Amino acid sequence: MTIPTKKGKAYLIGAGPGDPGLITVRGKEILQKTEVLIYDYLAGDRLLDFVPDDAELIYAGKKGGVKHTHTQDEINQMLVERVRAGKIVVRLKGGDPFIFGRGGEELEELVKAGLDYEAVPGVTSASAAATFAGIPITHRNCTSSVAFITGHERPDKDETSIAWDKISTGVGTLVFYMGIKNLPSITANLIKHGRDPKTPVAVVRWASMPYQRSVVGTLETIADIVTKEGIKPPALTIVGDVVNYRQKLDWYEGRPLFGKRIVVTRTREQASELVSLLGENGAYCLEHATISIHPPDSWQEADAAIDSLADFDWLLFTSINAIHHFFKRLQKKGKDCRALHGVSIAAIGRVTADVLLEYGICADLIPESFTGEGLAAAMVREGVDGKKILIPRALKARKVLEETLAENGGKVIIAPVYQNVPPVYEGTVLREEIKNGDVDMVTFTSSSTVTNFVSMLNVSGNDELQAVLKDVKIAAIGPVTAKTVRKFGLSVDVQPEIYTIAAMVDSIVDYFKK
Ligand code: SAH
Repeated sequence: MTIPTKKGKAYLIGAGPGDPGLITVRGKEILQKTEVLIYDYLAGDRLLDFVPDDAELIYAGKKGGVKHTHTQDEINQMLVERVRAGKIVVRLKGGDPFIFGRGGEELEELVKAGLDYEAVPGVTSASAAATFAGIPITHRNCTSSVAFITGHERPDKDETSIAWDKISTGVGTLVFYMGIKNLPSITANLIKHGRDPKTPVAVVRWASMPYQRSVVGTLETIADIVTKEGIKPPALTIVGDVVNYRQKLDWYEGRPLFGKRIVVTRTREQASELVSLLGENGAYCLEHATISIHPPDSWQEADAAIDSLADFDWLLFTSINAIHHFFKRLQKKGKDCRALHGVSIAAIGRVTADVLLEYGICADLIPESFTGEGLAAAMVREGVDGKKILIPRALKARKVLEETLAENGGKVIIAPVYQNVPPVYEGTVLREEIKNGDVDMVTFTSSSTVTNFVSMLNVSGNDELQAVLKDVKIAAIGPVTAKTVRKFGLSVDVQPEIYTIAAMVDSIVDYFKK
């Protein structure tokens, strides 16, 4: 038997209803140090981004309520085994783990095994569904009590554990989990036990998600409405007069871009501002990286340069990626920044210089204008004649810097430390989304997002491109970006007067209002 070096611990964490922003701060903190994650079918899988890359992921859920991948016994056993082996094991469950989540049973197993554990509550889907459908779950004017009820049990079965005679009239707001299939018998049963057939009812599907959908009726009508509208699980049923407040308080589904699916082509920090502003207006953002970073085809040049760093006079960094990948390779070869002593170092701009500081290096030169031309001019002013200059960078890049340095007598060595590759898989996913009519608009914040997007779609030419995008609207941040869009034979539907992300989002909102 191997003796674990550290004590394992289990954490039972509520993931919340689906929006990754609705997990607790404590829950997220623990996710970030998880070694083993045992998770259920979650409304959104973006929480998995918080988990370290090397964590073991075990999917324990059921999809659509039928097929169990693991029995409850197997889940309990996996949990206990991993904790005994000294691991930080997280059991992540949708909503709150103690509300129809079998959280209690799993903790009992840990107690039985004498293991250390902690439980973290989550936002239960009833609370989220009510809030996001604009229904105050209690309200002084109409109800002062709420019940959470499983709709999984058939009300007409002989041994129901639900006191229908009492809850029908004894509780103000009733929320049924897992009750879509049984909705006709649930509503009939409530009416039979004395609840007014005209009581308003809301059914909320995918609460808190950008594709949330709600329908409203009464105890008499809701079952038919749900069938007619094709509402399927996961959904919650809220019964009670509080549902009427939705008419006034529907803040979420009532937002201007609600239901619109908008592609955001990701490039660095711009994307997050765009996603957050579009999201606040209700849009469902489909984020696609149009570039993925791969190692260069060969490390030969970089390795040779790293082996002879002392021979260089200058080391030039023209991008953040170049810095990260150069230092990664340096470390891989058992060296660190001390190997750069005696070499002068230049950064193309402020941001690049700041990243160099993280590696303990203060740049000797930052040009006034943060471009390849700017850096070349500043270097020439320093004097490059006869100097040996190393430029670690992407495999494909603009040549202006190296050419200017060479023209002025510099001996330039280019060492590719990474390459940009169009992400083929993302492109395929995106084309599928477009084909299914799941994309209303694509946004471009620079010319390179346009060209990268087009190469990602992997089309044979402009004709095919236009055919693929014929039902998709296009937003461009400014005239230069718009010109690049038109170069591909596409037309621009939205272009703000001021070239900022905020103005672009305002223009998109106006466009869809019309
Ligand atoms: N522990 C969970 C509930 C698990 S039972 C919680 O606290 O929320 C599963 C049921 O929860 C589903 O059948 C559905 O009724 C409801 N549910 C979970 N997530 C939901 C969501 N995002 N929108 C609507 N209903 C949801």
